Amino acid sequence: MAMKNLNDMNSSPKTPHRRRGLADVWHWLIEPSSAVVEPERRLQARLLMAMLLVLIFLGLLSLTLSLLGVYSQPGKPETVGSIYDWITIPTLLVLAAAYGLSRGIHYPVAALMTVGVVMIATFGSTILNPQDFRIIFFLILGGLIGSLFLSARATAIIFLVTFIGLFLLPALAIGISTSNNISVLFFILMVGALVVMAASLRERYLDQIDVQTSQLLQSEVRLRELSIRDPLTGLFNRRYLEEMLTVEMIRAARKQYPIGIIMVDIDHFKRFNDTHGHAAGDAILIEVGNFLRTHVRASDITCRYGGEEFIMALPEASQEITEMRARHMQEDVSQLLIQHDGQTLEAITLSLGVAIFPEHGLSYDAILGAADTALYRAKSNGRDQVVVAEHQRMENRDQ
Ligand code: GH3
Ligand code: MG
Ligand code: MG
Repeated sequence: MAMKNLNDMNSSPKTPHRRRGLADVWHWLIEPSSAVVEPERRLQARLLMAMLLVLIFLGLLSLTLSLLGVYSQPGKPETVGSIYDWITIPTLLVLAAAYGLSRGIHYPVAALMTVGVVMIATFGSTILNPQDFRIIFFLILGGLIGSLFLSARATAIIFLVTFIGLFLLPALAIGISTSNNISVLFFILMVGALVVMAASLRERYLDQIDVQTSQLLQSEVRLRELSIRDPLTGLFNRRYLEEMLTVEMIRAARKQYPIGIIMVDIDHFKRFNDTHGHAAGDAILIEVGNFLRTHVRASDITCRYGGEEFIMALPEASQEITEMRARHMQEDVSQLLIQHDGQTLEAITLSLGVAIFPEHGLSYDAILGAADTALYRAKSNGRDQVVVAEHQRMENRDQ
């Protein structure tokens, strides 16, 4: 069985080749212009175009058959056939124009045009040839088109117009009386009620889909935010730093600009926790996070690397600028007044390690390693200071 299916699949490309060509033409014929953006509108425009093409095809077929004399019957006057032809030709022209409009952003106009031409053609035929009363059933098409492509209100208006037209018909068409019209009126009324209900249901479903889609988009944005942020400080997390810095280093290497890296660690942070409690420690982390973020450009990346360690990446910042920023942070942090439980906590100090891409490392690990070594030296030199990494590149060492 499986073998057979495999064989089928292998041999299939030969035959459908031609069919695929036809399918491509059909898809091209019902493809709306790229100006129609919303998927829901594109789908409706596509449906409308398909329907118009079918109507045009049927109209042309009917016209051809009529011209070939298929409809002419012995006893029936020749003029009847030609009346229909004279109605079919302009109807087809309007349908073709509607098809053209439905390719672009004007597809509701195209739907209205289609409804209008169906009504005019149907009433026109009935008035010109009241003997063939059955043609009046074509009126239902108008409402159906409305229910598919227009609002519930527009569909209701279309049926109202149809209804008024049917009422006025006996006055215009000789031979049609209200009494033989009554069953048609009832029929149209029932179909009208059902179709308007269907249209309002469709509208409600579409509204619901709109609401759900926007909720989904919102929660996607929220999830993305959650996945790249540290919940306590709101700064970026380590994962985001790695993702962004890796990309940024490729760009910096190509465009030949440096990236300044500052690794920051709060001095004796454990003491704050031990003296004032964990909540006070958290308050410090939040404040220091804000302080650091506002000491660099908004386009720079400030991340909480872990515990009380932060990393900042400053694209296009030279060693001088990065060092200057780090020194400002080290100096200004003493003025940072952090309140907790109604009391002002004692001033904190920072140790900072500075490294520059590409001078101090060419990979993510190397550049962070260089900043970490510099930070370690700042700690062992007595804390509350900035240390810049030493040149560690192999080629420099070899020289
Ligand atoms: P040093 O000057 O050498 O950096 O000393 P330190 O006390 O700052 O460093 P150490 O690494 O010994 O301690 C870091 C402390 O940070 C330990 C831990 O209790 C605290 N810590 C880590 N994460 C959090 C957090 O999310 N909230 C709070 N309140 N404290 C944290
Ligand atoms: Mg520390
Ligand atoms: Mg630490």
